[in-house]
Amino acid sequence: MGLISRREFFNVCGLAGVVAVMGGTALLSGCTQNEAGAEGTYTVTVVSGATLEETDTKTGTYKYKRKCEACDWEDKSSKTVKGKSVSETFTCPQCKFKQNVVINVSKAEK
Ligand SMILES: [Zn+2]
Repeated sequence: MGLISRREFFNVCGLAGVVAVMGGTALLSGCTQNEAGAEGTYTVTVVSGATLEETDTKTGTYKYKRKCEACDWEDKSSKTVKGKSVSETFTCPQCKFKQNVVINVSKAEK
């Protein structure tokens, strides 16, 4: 694996990753999106009707796709939300089920 820039590292790992780089320690393998920096970490939880595409735990920005839990239909396009919860209803184009989309976002202060 080649070197990655600090910026790319930051995108993947958040604050904790940058600290690791500056400390000269390669902690890549121990870093996941859920273990981002210590300050203001967001947690995004899908309660129903969606699949999470990607989550930035530092800014609370995430992408989700609508998903029907009755027939497993999934939207082709995703929506981007920044730092807030989602509560909406859609009618599944495949089976006409009325699906609730509920996504909770919470922010833990350090
Ligand atoms: Zn459906």
